[in-house]
Amino acid sequence: MDYYGIGFSNIRLPNDSESYIYKYDRRINQFPEEVFLHEFLHTLERNAKEYGYERPELHAYESYGYKNEAIVGQRDWYKDYMNKEIKTSDGNVGLPPEIYTLKPAKSSNFQNGTTKVDAFKEPENIIEEIKQTIEQIIRKIEERR
Ligand SMILES: [Zn+2]
Repeated sequence: MDYYGIGFSNIRLPNDSESYIYKYDRRINQFPEEVFLHEFLHTLERNAKEYGYERPELHAYESYGYKNEAIVGQRDWYKDYMNKEIKTSDGNVGLPPEIYTLKPAKSSNFQNGTTKVDAFKEPENIIEEIKQTIEQIIRKIEERR
């Protein structure tokens, strides 16, 4: 997922303790860790792309013959994707093993640490969201003066 065009994966959980998302229900959340793994793999996928490695699209599991299964989701796909063990007629594909030792390719990935983020403030409507975005832009412009 994109985050205000700066390229980070973002996972948002509702702040509602009654939500099923906080309960491990074998019929509903068979593999609740999947969303965290999925978004993390998008980061590695992006890093691999920016370093110029060939790798399959993370969403392309079906075109490599994998299925989204009822109990384990796309676990086999993720496992083979991470270990570069997806079999094709041209040999195995997946993330390059070196990707686990590399920093993000672009120095711009490290420049947002100077922006103070109010992490727990969520916009409540579209007007507030636009207002907040404009305020962030103004703050950035003022910081550069
Ligand atoms: Zn995705």
